[in-house]
Amino acid sequence: MIPFNKPYLTGSEQHNISLALASRKFSGDGDFTKKCHAWFEREYGFKKALLTTSCTDALEMCAILLDIHAGDEVIIPSYTFVSTANAFVLRGATIKFADSLPNHPNVDPEEIAKLITPRTRAIVVVHYAGIACDMDRILELAAPLNIPVVEDAAQAVDSFYKGRPLGSIGALAAFSFHETKNIVCGEGGLLVINDERYIHRAEIIREKGTNRSSFFRGEVDKYGWVDIGSSFLPSDLLAAFLFAQLEHLESIQRERMRVWQRYWGNFMKANLPSDVLLPTLPDFATNNAHMFYLICPTLDIRSAVIAKLKEHQILAVFHYLSLHTSPYYSDKHDGRKLINCDRYADHLIRLPLYVELADDQIDEICRLVVSVLKP
Ligand SMILES: *Cc1c(COP(=O)(O)O)cnc(C)c1O
Repeated sequence: MIPFNKPYLTGSEQHNISLALASRKFSGDGDFTKKCHAWFEREYGFKKALLTTSCTDALEMCAILLDIHAGDEVIIPSYTFVSTANAFVLRGATIKFADSLPNHPNVDPEEIAKLITPRTRAIVVVHYAGIACDMDRILELAAPLNIPVVEDAAQAVDSFYKGRPLGSIGALAAFSFHETKNIVCGEGGLLVINDERYIHRAEIIREKGTNRSSFFRGEVDKYGWVDIGSSFLPSDLLAAFLFAQLEHLESIQRERMRVWQRYWGNFMKANLPSDVLLPTLPDFATNNAHMFYLICPTLDIRSAVIAKLKEHQILAVFHYLSLHTSPYYSDKHDGRKLINCDRYADHLIRLPLYVELADDQIDEICRLVVSVLKP
């Protein structure tokens, strides 16, 4: 049986967790949390890194930080995970869903351009499969109007846009360490703040709306309730787990890239029909081997590929259902058709990708996929 995902353990997680236990201080913002923050700020030049309990929580913090209120419009791709939009809906936002590019599931910047109005309060982009959106074009649209850009970088750890780390470009960014991502700790996330104006308030929101962080730094002599917030900080046990993964980032990424390149090489050699699309990588983007996907010519063909693999105990999966047609949002959507997004919802298939996937397993998966696509 080949699962779709198998979270990788480096072997140092238990050791780190036992150190955190032995310290008898394992609530939030302990030693390992500080180590993780310093690691991200040093490695990727993030102005401020704050661990959260999930990427969902980091996105909810973004919506609070940007002061999103009822009636505010937020532009978000429709081909994304629920949390990208839900975080802003929780604050009362009206979501203007943007379509994807014709040749890539990432949002089409020109679709964003059409949706900007005087009520637009934020633009959220998602780097699908860890591949960068065209950030220069998106910032060119947003900056003159002072509209903050948020990067949902859940899948985008260690990936770059024109040499700049993803997550370092927008005013705010959110990462995920859920067990399906490249770097994991079970459930976990990171809020990145690149615009300094948001740092002070982010610490307060993350600590239940209190100025507890300032108190611990000795900046105020008592702490109390100063804003809205919630408990967004993870236990140091999770940070201990995460830090073990960060210390092995290079080897994890190398192995994931091996898997990705083998898929790519096999499918290139297979000479697939021209209506089967392999992932495209724009000149400005790097690949962090988060995902290997194919875009099938039809929904029926995709179902046949999934069924064929399942017959051989291999789990391949489709991905997002368009959010603008979801049971929750369809009656709130403005009725525009988003044809590219709907096509990815129906035609895109993701193949197993994890560190321990062996070359001969990849070859077997490719052989089965090709047998359906090139009967
Ligand atoms: C995984 C993912 C999320 C949610 O991450 P959690 O840490 O599970 O909250 C949000 N957005 C995107 C694009 C994701 O891939």
